[in-house]
Amino acid sequence: MPNFPIRTYEGSHREIGLRRGKELSATLRVPPASGARKAFAAACMERASELHPPLIDLFDGMIEGSGFDRGDFMVMFFARQQSMLGCTVIAAAPPLSAAGGTIVARNYDWFTADREWREARILRPRGFPACAAFTHHWWGNPDVVTENGLCVFVASLMPKIAEEPGIQWNLLVDAAVERCASTAEAVALLSAAPHLRSMNYLVADSGSAAVVEASAAGTKVRWAKDGFCAATNIALGENPERILRAESDDKILASQVPFRSVHSAAGMRRALKRYRRAARLATNASATDAGDLGKVTEDDILRVLQDHDVPVCCGHASPYIEFNWATIWTSVCRPAERAMKVSADFACRPDFATLRGM
Ligand SMILES: [Zn+2]
Repeated sequence: MPNFPIRTYEGSHREIGLRRGKELSATLRVPPASGARKAFAAACMERASELHPPLIDLFDGMIEGSGFDRGDFMVMFFARQQSMLGCTVIAAAPPLSAAGGTIVARNYDWFTADREWREARILRPRGFPACAAFTHHWWGNPDVVTENGLCVFVASLMPKIAEEPGIQWNLLVDAAVERCASTAEAVALLSAAPHLRSMNYLVADSGSAAVVEASAAGTKVRWAKDGFCAATNIALGENPERILRAESDDKILASQVPFRSVHSAAGMRRALKRYRRAARLATNASATDAGDLGKVTEDDILRVLQDHDVPVCCGHASPYIEFNWATIWTSVCRPAERAMKVSADFACRPDFATLRGM
């Protein structure tokens, strides 16, 4: 039995929102928002409605179910600005992956206080693909796989404050998994959308993977190269191999969105180290089998996620123990199987439970 709850949401978007709103009325505190924030959120809501109208039905259902003040919750739902630097997401797609197509795996690093909110969600919105998701968020889903064999995993980037209205990260994930069936379709949707939050979206199907690096300034897409792509919390553009080869870490950090604190600089430096560690998967694989690209297995990727030297598995047994921050789950997705498995613990203590939408 998994050591986390599994909640199933079925029906129309409004019905799903109604049920979730009732649950949230007991647990979520919605802060009061200013008139200016409400006006901005209304414009963001308009953008979300243009992209995927069912998102508005979901919001309306949540308002009805929760009794939250509509304006205050509109700001929280459509325009909340917050970004923390954690997470490592790695994809090995063909030809890098062993049999069975693309493998995507991640560590989710976050405040340890949020461990109590970890849960799986099975989402079956009427008229759209069913999904399995894992999250600690009141509605957003950072890890999702659909019954069509598409997965989306996120890793946040240093925030760039959006001056123009855009669409919240989790609503973009909802829209992508409900409207797209392939990596290419999800990349197209995410590239065309106006973004509110700076975020890496790693999207993959059984044969391909890509990272959409998004912010209010626009998007860059890096397709898997020889089957490899990864995302941590640093912007590396379309060709990270070239940047990592040519530039020092200090220069790469200096090229990032202006960051506000020593804490942010340290967080990005660690994100860069985690990216470099992940990228060794691809180079090691090609070096071990001359003439035939070495095949990366799930265990190879898990070994990266369990690394305590960088560390990739963070929050214990590492040089960077912070009392309130750690890897709070690890998940592995095989899009071809339309399933993912999740272990709600440190990456080095895997105890996986399998989730699927159907
Ligand atoms: Zn560990």
